[in-house]
Amino acid sequence: MTDFAGLNGAESFLLTNATVPVVLVEGTRLSADTYGLARVDIRVEGASIMEIAPAGTLDRAAPATVDLNAGMVLPTFVDCHTHLDKGHIWPRRANPDGTFQGALQAVSQDRVANWSAEDVRARMDFSLRCAYAYGTSLIRTHIDSLPPQDAISWPVLREVMSDWSDRISLHGASLFGIDRLDADDGFLETIADRVEAANGVLGAVTYMIPRLDEHLDAMMRAAESRGLDLDFHVDETSDPEAKTLVRIAQAALRNRFSGRILCGHCCSLACQDDAEADRTMDLVAKAGIAIVSLPMCNMYLQGRRNPGQAPGTPRWRGITLVHELKRRGVSVMVASDNTRDPFYAYGDLDMVEVFTSATRIAHLDHPASDWIRAVTATPADILRHPEQGRIRLGGGADFITFAGRNLFEIMARPSAPRTVFRNGKRIDTALPDYRELDALLGEAP
Ligand SMILES: [Zn+2]
Repeated sequence: MTDFAGLNGAESFLLTNATVPVVLVEGTRLSADTYGLARVDIRVEGASIMEIAPAGTLDRAAPATVDLNAGMVLPTFVDCHTHLDKGHIWPRRANPDGTFQGALQAVSQDRVANWSAEDVRARMDFSLRCAYAYGTSLIRTHIDSLPPQDAISWPVLREVMSDWSDRISLHGASLFGIDRLDADDGFLETIADRVEAANGVLGAVTYMIPRLDEHLDAMMRAAESRGLDLDFHVDETSDPEAKTLVRIAQAALRNRFSGRILCGHCCSLACQDDAEADRTMDLVAKAGIAIVSLPMCNMYLQGRRNPGQAPGTPRWRGITLVHELKRRGVSVMVASDNTRDPFYAYGDLDMVEVFTSATRIAHLDHPASDWIRAVTATPADILRHPEQGRIRLGGGADFITFAGRNLFEIMARPSAPRTVFRNGKRIDTALPDYRELDALLGEAP
């Protein structure tokens, strides 16, 4: 492993012989090799990247120099779809059968029984410590927002956002079944105000319900009038009759919605016939909707046998049509989704694991193309943090160094050590111990 001891907290230093994906470098012209990579020297001053130049061209007389010996440097990661409020409840509330319905019921029971401000805060903080240690700097979390939970979780989110503001930019998105709006009781205005006050985005789970179009229009008006973006959980099922994605695209065009719309999951798109899927994807592209796939969680929940049936082997991968969407110019990204809760029993908010899994599940590999943007620059742009997710001349010295010399070496050893720099300083990458949560969760594993 590269020895960083020589840096010794230096204010200014040079990293030499670093390998970078050219699509993630801004402010310097580099020529890419056949894998889209280039070898560079990077000079850091204070908290900023002050020079990026082809390897061997920067003045080596810097006070501190570390030769990365072709090891890769990536910008810190962006995780654009998580559920920090659900995270880590698995030890006290497992999924009885691994199904989506099982997950919904288990989380609902746990929320009603246990989600006090203290409980939500402690689990969020634990998750953020994991994400930070792995090298993530920007996160969107969905927040279960059915009353009375909205009044508990949103104030906690605002506190946590403030506590973490110097380490992770955190944003919330509301989450409730869109059928909740059938009640016509003013909930949409209440939750939109809450979201606006927390600088978040308005979100819901869409279902094929009679008043879907009406509710989508109402959400778009509520978002537009407050300057909010939208984020939907969409068609997370293998049922080809789940077709809310096209309805969201039509609503966006009908309302001339000017904000950004991110749609997550969209699994059923992959179960529809080509002609229908093509028509939907054309409209998604026309409406400028961005798509996030959650490959680990989808692979876990999709293709399960129904409750009561014997366990069987899943026949499909659960993911949406990421390649076909990207070919149409749609912004496509991948993210963590759930961690150690009934929707996904595993996960630790490690974007190397997410990217590695996504590559294997969705074949993001031959050619690897610019898919690394799906966990860096693309979600940074959609989350309106264009300063993040790239290695930028004059930008923040927030990056990760690896021993692996290309993405294939990194993905072959996704748990290999990495070094995370934030504001030009190495951070402690030790992970929090699960034992810290034992008292909160009420039992040992
Ligand atoms: Zn989700």
